[in-house]
Amino acid sequence: MYETKKFGQLELSKKVYSAIGDMGFEEPSPIQAAAIPILMQEKDVVAQAQTGTGKTAAFGIPIVEKVNTRYRGVQALILTPTRELAIQVAEEITKIGKYRELRTLAIYGGQSIDRQILALRRGVQVVVGTPGRIIDHLGRGTLILKSLRFMILDEADEMLDMGFIDDIEKILKETPETKQTLLFSATMPEEIQRLSRKYLKNPEFLSVSRDELTVPQIEQVFYEVKAHNKFEGLCRVLDTSDINLAIIFCRTKRGVDELVAGLEARGYEAGGLHGDLTQAQRNKIMRKFREGNMEMLVATDVAARGLDIENVSHVINYDIPQDPESYVHRIGRTGRAGKTGIAMSFVVPQEYRLLRMIEKMINTRITRCKLPSVEDVFDRQREVIIERLVSTMQLGRLSHYRSIIEDLAAEYDVYEVAAAALRLAFDLEVTGEKNEQDDFEFGDTGAEPGMVRLFMNVGRMEELRPPDLIKIIAEEAGIPGRVIGAIRIYDKFTFVEVPKDVAEKVLYSLHRNIIKGKKVHVEPAKVRTR
Ligand code: ADP
Ligand code: MG
Repeated sequence: MYETKKFGQLELSKKVYSAIGDMGFEEPSPIQAAAIPILMQEKDVVAQAQTGTGKTAAFGIPIVEKVNTRYRGVQALILTPTRELAIQVAEEITKIGKYRELRTLAIYGGQSIDRQILALRRGVQVVVGTPGRIIDHLGRGTLILKSLRFMILDEADEMLDMGFIDDIEKILKETPETKQTLLFSATMPEEIQRLSRKYLKNPEFLSVSRDELTVPQIEQVFYEVKAHNKFEGLCRVLDTSDINLAIIFCRTKRGVDELVAGLEARGYEAGGLHGDLTQAQRNKIMRKFREGNMEMLVATDVAARGLDIENVSHVINYDIPQDPESYVHRIGRTGRAGKTGIAMSFVVPQEYRLLRMIEKMINTRITRCKLPSVEDVFDRQREVIIERLVSTMQLGRLSHYRSIIEDLAAEYDVYEVAAAALRLAFDLEVTGEKNEQDDFEFGDTGAEPGMVRLFMNVGRMEELRPPDLIKIIAEEAGIPGRVIGAIRIYDKFTFVEVPKDVAEKVLYSLHRNIIKGKKVHVEPAKVRTR
């Protein structure tokens, strides 16, 4: 724990202090309080803090303080994993440097290199860029690092994940000995520790403790769906939620395209973001989304890395991520800097184990929610219609329409007229066919009525005992142990009966899981025919 400090106690210059005030920052975040004083002492630092904890300003503030604005050479170089992040970091530093004559430039692939060369030639003090393009400029001699004072690796874990290690090392080798090197990351894998031992001088390690890492403002829920019902489920959730801006994650580029097409066909305003788009397309979509002209951004993990967009009310894992770390990164897109947010995940039975792994890692129970029913959707539509009608009445100026109703009232029932007017205005479509009857077919497994008997290839030889099995099933599948039925453990295999409605979930949460040190195979039992 670091003591809470005010920006006033960090001995900032008046210009930086005012700029931070304009940005609406009231107090330094824990990583800022810890890092800023040390960075000002010109020490190397390795800093770890979760996404959304203000790491950019933690290095941005000292940079702005220390840069010599009378000299036009590059004094700070910041490497980021993606173009969006480069732009974002450059913008934040520009804001912090608002009252200093500071020149910051973002350089990244996909943008005209000639324009970048011109801008570099005019002289900039801070360069933010993606590794590939930086190397390009170093090779051409258009980026000169001889007066570099700060070298920063931002979102270092992401850069390594994206395979930039060789590029990073190449760049580090081109920098002068005398600089200060800073490494910021959400996580600290071994590779980062190796990098810091190799390139940092006697670095100070800062880490914001675990309980400060978690994102308590975010409500986390999940919906269980069948793969073929997922889209319908998403639509119902969207139709019954109060969404400001939502980021929806898909696993693949193709998934993004398909979902955007589906959403558009249903009348939602959605745009997709993934690696196959040109820079101009990406910029256009991001602008629309940031400005609130598009409600939903559908993206892959890579495309959304590090994005900081204000007022994202919902992060939706349409596809649940394959690893718990991406889950944390994804949900960090909402509830930024003290705002509340909701993270929703759609889970198909096969993914149940992933969900449990995520819960274990974040040490939080993700609340299970029932999918809204068609009736819920109608209720919500009703509310919206009523709200809009009432506010239209309050606005007044209805005399023109009123006279039409008065004429009609002579011949028709007024309720009927009003109902027809609503249909015209809202054109309610009956969305959502009921299709929930598709249960997994187990056939006869030889179980008691209402139960399914499962077979698994682990048994007495692995010292499996009934209480162990009950505990494992209850934990992994998230069902109460008491609903588990008959258990028969043999030397090499086991039969267990579970209620039909949870059987699929139990099957998928145990299958290929490790029980008593053994990777097990689980399947519905078969009735032996004599
Ligand atoms: P990180 O790099 O750790 O993921 P960012 O630097 O992108 O986080 O910051 C997340 C958001 O919090 C940004 O919108 C940033 O402007 C805001 N922010 C940063 N520091 C503060 C602060 N001290 N007070 C309020 N908001 C802050
Ligand atoms: Mg960051």
